[in-house]
Amino acid sequence: MNVLLIGSGGREHALAWKLAQSSRLGTLFAAPGNPGIAAHAQIVALDVSDHAAVVAFCAAEAVELVIIGPEAPLVDGLGDSVRAAGIAVFGPDKAAAQLEGSKAFTKAVCDRAGIPTAGYVHATSRAQARAALDKFGVPVVIKADGLAAGKGVTVATTREEAEGALADLFGLRGGEAVIEEFLEGEEVSLFVLTDGTAILPFGTAQDHKRVGDGDTGPNTGGMGAYSPARVLTPELEARALDEIVRPTVAAMAAAGTPFSGVLYAGLMLTADGPKLIEYNARFGDPECQVLMARLDEDLLDILLAVATGTLGTRGPAKWRDATALTVVIAAKGYPGTPEAGAILTGIAEAEAKGATVFQAGTRLEGGQIVASGGRVLAVTACGPTIADAQADAYRALAAIDFPGGFYRNDIGYREIMRNAH
Ligand code: ATP
Repeated sequence: MNVLLIGSGGREHALAWKLAQSSRLGTLFAAPGNPGIAAHAQIVALDVSDHAAVVAFCAAEAVELVIIGPEAPLVDGLGDSVRAAGIAVFGPDKAAAQLEGSKAFTKAVCDRAGIPTAGYVHATSRAQARAALDKFGVPVVIKADGLAAGKGVTVATTREEAEGALADLFGLRGGEAVIEEFLEGEEVSLFVLTDGTAILPFGTAQDHKRVGDGDTGPNTGGMGAYSPARVLTPELEARALDEIVRPTVAAMAAAGTPFSGVLYAGLMLTADGPKLIEYNARFGDPECQVLMARLDEDLLDILLAVATGTLGTRGPAKWRDATALTVVIAAKGYPGTPEAGAILTGIAEAEAKGATVFQAGTRLEGGQIVASGGRVLAVTACGPTIADAQADAYRALAAIDFPGGFYRNDIGYREIMRNAH
C-alpha cells in the first residue's frame, strides 16, 4: 500500500521509521519531509496548503492512506479535502480539529459532557477578566484566545502578574482571554486513537516543556520525553478514559463532528483525580518518538484501522516491555531565534551505541547534515528501566558533534526520583 506522510519534524521521522517496518507498506512518500525521513521515504515537493495538488498527487501515485502529522494542515482542512476525494486519512477533519485549535470550543465540549477540567471564564473584556481574577484568586492561569491568539499562557502567582498579562491581552486593540482556575498536580500525556466511535488507548508519556534543567526558563515545543509515564497508574488511566476521553468522543459524534485520529489529552493529576488541561489533535513531538520506540506491532495496520473506521475490531496495542526516553538537542538561541547552519556529525556513531536519532530541523547541504531549525535532533533509547534508557540516550548523545547545540541533562528526572523513593 502506498502512503503519503505530511510533515517534517522529529515526530514524522519517528512515524516514517516505524511505517518503514510494515510488511504492508508499498512506497512511502513524504512532504515536505527532512533528511532523516528521506532514509525511509521518497520526498516529494508538494505544497501541502494546495489541497488540490495533494489530491492529484495521491491519484497519480495510487496513494491509499494519507497520514497528517502536524496540527496546521489539520486545522486548515487538508483531511477534509483528501477524504472528499475518497482517500483514507489518518487525522481529524477541520471541524473536529477545533479540539486543538480553539480553547473556547474545548471548554464548551467539557461543559456539555461534564468532563473534569479547570473552572474558567471566557472573558471578552478586561472588566470581565478582572471579575474572573476576583473569583479565582491566585495562582491563576490566563490564556489567549481569539484575536489575541499566539500570546500564549501565563500562570500568574500574584495579582500584579495577572494584571500584567491582562494588560498585554486587552492592550489597545482589545482581545479575548480564557481565565482558568489553577490546577495543582503533576502533568501527564495520554494518547488515544479513535475512529470516531471506538477507542484504542495508545500509551502515556511525560514531556519536558521548559528549556532548562529542573524545569526552568521559557517554554519550548518540548525538550525530551519518556514513555510509559507510570504516574498515570492503570486506575488513573481508566478514570481518565471513562471520565474524559470517552465522553469527549461521544460528544463530538453527537455534535455531528466525530473525531478520527489521535486524541492527545494533556492531563493534570489533581487530588480529585485527572483533569483535562488541553487536547491536541495529533501526536506530541517528542512524545511520538518514545511511543514509536516502544510500539511492538505494525503501525500501518493500526493507523489504517483508525482511518477506515474499523478500530472496534482490533485488540489492544502491543508494546515492548521497556521504557523509552528521548533527549532533544536544540540549536543555540532556541526557543528564541535559533542559529542555523551548524554541521552535524556523529549521528551514525550515536546509532551504533544502540540509540535511534530522529531528525527535526535539519537539511542536507553538500552531502552534510546541517541544523536548520530550533529543535534539531531527538536521541532516543529504550531500556528495561527508565534509568537504563536515560543512561543509554545520554551515552549515545555524547557521540554527536553539534557546534552550539544544547540539551537538558535531566530528562526523566521525575520518574527516576519517584523510583528512588
Ligand atoms: P501547548 O499546546 O504548547 O502545551 P497551549 O498554548 O495549548 O500550550 P495549555 O496546554 O493549555 O496551552 O497550557 C500550557 C501549560 O500551562 C500547561 O502545559 C500547564 O503546564 C500550564 N497550565 C495550563 N492550564 C493550567 C491550569 N488550569 N492549571 C495549572 N497549570 C496550567
